[in-house]
Amino acid sequence: MNAEIKELEKKAIQLRRRVFQLVYESKTGHTGSSLSCTDILTALYYSIMAVDPEDPENDARDRYIQSKGHAVEILWAILADKGFIEEEELKTFSAFNSRLIGHPNNQVAGVEMNTGSLGHGLAVATGIALAAKMDEKKYQTYTLLGDGELAEGSVWEAAMAASNYKLDNLTAIIDHNGLQITGATTDVMNSDPLSDKWRAFGWHVIEVDGNNIEALIQAFNSRENIGQPKMIIANTIKGKGVSFAEGIAAWHHKVPSQEQYEQALLEFDKRLEELEDE
Ligand SMILES: [Mg+2]
Repeated sequence: MNAEIKELEKKAIQLRRRVFQLVYESKTGHTGSSLSCTDILTALYYSIMAVDPEDPENDARDRYIQSKGHAVEILWAILADKGFIEEEELKTFSAFNSRLIGHPNNQVAGVEMNTGSLGHGLAVATGIALAAKMDEKKYQTYTLLGDGELAEGSVWEAAMAASNYKLDNLTAIIDHNGLQITGATTDVMNSDPLSDKWRAFGWHVIEVDGNNIEALIQAFNSRENIGQPKMIIANTIKGKGVSFAEGIAAWHHKVPSQEQYEQALLEFDKRLEELEDE
């Protein structure tokens, strides 16, 4: 593992630790959903995207829309770590009158769009990417969808439009953990064969291990999608990084007990120590 990737892996564990603390202390949160996409957001915010907490509205910034808005704990943890919000404010997560509510809120610097009502992010990201083309702007637009979210018909209207307008400045990522709030996506609303569907809609599709930061960075940096929007199908594990939460649908929205919290912190610390030796 090269030094840059190792630092990013460590960052992802520290962020997972912060997510777990936030959920435990506020007694609410989409724990498994946030841990699932932590590596994707770590790659985006610490390696790929040009965003500046000192100048969050800069017109040249890359745009990120978290369509699966419920996994907000990881977004707040990153925005605080990068300096878009104060660490003190992060402690108010989900408290009465806090701006840091249970879904992304565009009153907060660094948040482009209020999301959480599923199925809207890709359409807005498509519009933003189209605007960049029309205005001859160089910024890239990224959006993260859940796999359960694919049951929303509006996702597929946007998929068709993005390819129609040849938006090769748009990258969508599916957090493909195979689970949603009520169970397996294959049982609730089967979206397989996923890659074939997106290819049929005219997208350039890359499938990666979505908990492998190095593979994610490679997929983000790939420039083979000339004249096509890019879809990264990120195969992930819901609850990744906490042994008792991995692959369990019930952890979609669940608060750990004190014992579970302490065990998770031990697991994060152990993984950090292991990484030091790798
Ligand atoms: Mg899912």
